[in-house]
Amino acid sequence: MRPYKCRRIEKEPEIKFFKPNGIPAKFLEKVVLTVDEFEAVRLADLNGLYQEEAAEKMSISRQTFGNIIASARRKIADCLVNAKALKIEGGEIEMKRNFFCSNCNGTWNEPFGTGRPEKCPKCGDKNFRRVNDRNEKCGHGRKGRRCANGN
Ligand SMILES: [Zn+2]
Repeated sequence: MRPYKCRRIEKEPEIKFFKPNGIPAKFLEKVVLTVDEFEAVRLADLNGLYQEEAAEKMSISRQTFGNIIASARRKIADCLVNAKALKIEGGEIEMKRNFFCSNCNGTWNEPFGTGRPEKCPKCGDKNFRRVNDRNEKCGHGRKGRRCANGN
């Protein structure tokens, strides 16, 4: 079994439903874009990141990123060309940032977008860091390692 990979999301979509103008939603076919697909488009197509960088930001492999963005583009094209409604929801996503305190060895997480925490919630120490780099991403399914997300 392949290890589960959290797909990190920095920003949730503000608008989660789009439809062609002038056609009631009940007459429209709906396409569901997952939040990780939305994030892939935002990072690569809007912000212009290379797929390697975007994949790293989402904490997934480049190949997985390639699959996600291909699927996202196909869905968006389907909506534009065939006048379908687009709903953004779901997906295997991780909306939290993980922190590690080197004073008490504690870990905790915070949602994205709340700024850097002031101190470790366990011991109050300020000597903590974010754990989101390549070597410390989610260790789901790896032997002898606790998942950094506490799952
Ligand atoms: Zn601590």
